Amino acid sequence: MRSLVLVGHGSHLNGESAGAVYRYAELLRGRGLFDEVVEGYWKEEPSLRQVLKTTASTDVTVIPMFISEGYFTETVIPRELGLGHQGPVPPGGVARVLGGRTVRYTLPYGVHPGMSDVILERAREVLPDLNAQDTALVVLGHGTTRNENSNRVIYGNADRLRESGLFAEVHALFLDEEPKVGGWPERVRAPRVVVVPFFASEGWHTLETIPEDMGLTGEVTEFPENPHGPQTVYYARPVGTHPSVADVVLHLAEEARGASERGGDEERGHAQAWAAFLDLARRGTRVGEAVVTPHAGMFELRHALDEGRPTDDLTTVVTPEGLRDLARRDEGGHHRPVHTLRNLPRGWRAVLSEADLPRGVHYLYPAVVEEGYAQHCHTLRATPWPTTARRQTGIYTKVTRATPEQVEDVAKDVCSGCLKTRLWAGEKLTRTFFSGVPGAIPCAEACTYFIAEVREEVSGKRGQASPGHDD
Ligand code: SF4
Repeated sequence: MRSLVLVGHGSHLNGESAGAVYRYAELLRGRGLFDEVVEGYWKEEPSLRQVLKTTASTDVTVIPMFISEGYFTETVIPRELGLGHQGPVPPGGVARVLGGRTVRYTLPYGVHPGMSDVILERAREVLPDLNAQDTALVVLGHGTTRNENSNRVIYGNADRLRESGLFAEVHALFLDEEPKVGGWPERVRAPRVVVVPFFASEGWHTLETIPEDMGLTGEVTEFPENPHGPQTVYYARPVGTHPSVADVVLHLAEEARGASERGGDEERGHAQAWAAFLDLARRGTRVGEAVVTPHAGMFELRHALDEGRPTDDLTTVVTPEGLRDLARRDEGGHHRPVHTLRNLPRGWRAVLSEADLPRGVHYLYPAVVEEGYAQHCHTLRATPWPTTARRQTGIYTKVTRATPEQVEDVAKDVCSGCLKTRLWAGEKLTRTFFSGVPGAIPCAEACTYFIAEVREEVSGKRGQASPGHDD
């Protein structure tokens, strides 16, 4: 079996942030080249600390779904996955055997040379007859004075597309560093100009900042009086949302594939956990706030408080993704970065086949079956808070300064609303939902939401309007 793990940033605040990774995972699942495609996030669940546990195979390729190299791809993700690697990732990726799994960690998709083709596809969408006589291409990056890698990828793509001979001119311009995009009328001479933003997603920069800096009014903007004569600018959509990114991801995965060292214990552990859960589900069970009932060869899931409610009163979903989307918001429509918080919305039912049930339960409560079963078998190891705190880098290093009282204060507010029992703080959990206690779910390690709250506490900012959880 082979597993592909797509890793995104996610957000404690914004439910849309994880959307692109979910969409690419669905696209890649549809291609059928991997036995499973799994998502993991820095700021959502399953977390980077959990995501490897949620894979069924011992042959795992992890792709960071980021547009350029930087702090997350070089420091945070390898650290959280436990790769024992820090710093730039070599072109062939990093391969490690972790707990019996071969884990290959690649460069982010944005730096793959195949992204030049994606830029070209985006350019052709807005200007199908682009040509080397009268068309200039602007590859537009964010740029930053803090990380030289972020501009290297823009220059690399501009060089490759210049060599292709398809354009009269190719320019690399930036929002945040020189040469800045605002100076385009002085630099670009061709009468037709295609601008392709090298951004991961549509957002504030692509919708507001870039059009403002360039004086654009829509997809096509005429500039009758520019220094080099009249020009027309064709503004493309960002590269990161193009479906061809899925092909780039597959290329990266293939390139990273090396000799597979098969373990077996982890794969068996995963299979046993799900086999045990299916066994429970066939008899009807509860996990967290959800109840699972076998019915006519299928499984129905709903909120336990909706047990007995007529089905006509409930919204029905029939795919794991449908369940995923409704479990990501509470009843007020607010994002739920931690799925075991006791605010699962009511008013729905999911009807899933046995084949789809594991993915549905995974979306409802990521990594809970794997960790719950390990706790049930007394093999789950907790990571004490001081170890988690010491592992933090960057702006989170300050959590090591939190006193035990501050950590407990945060836990009183945050964890008291969560179903999980804090093994990492020494709390005991003698039974789990595997032995009939629905809410008995272990928390082996403080989640990133908790860590962010501790940071706010140490900074004296906790409870203020803008928690700033998304760095
Ligand atoms: S740290 Fe607290 S809030 Fe986070 S998952 Fe564990 S128990 Fe829940």
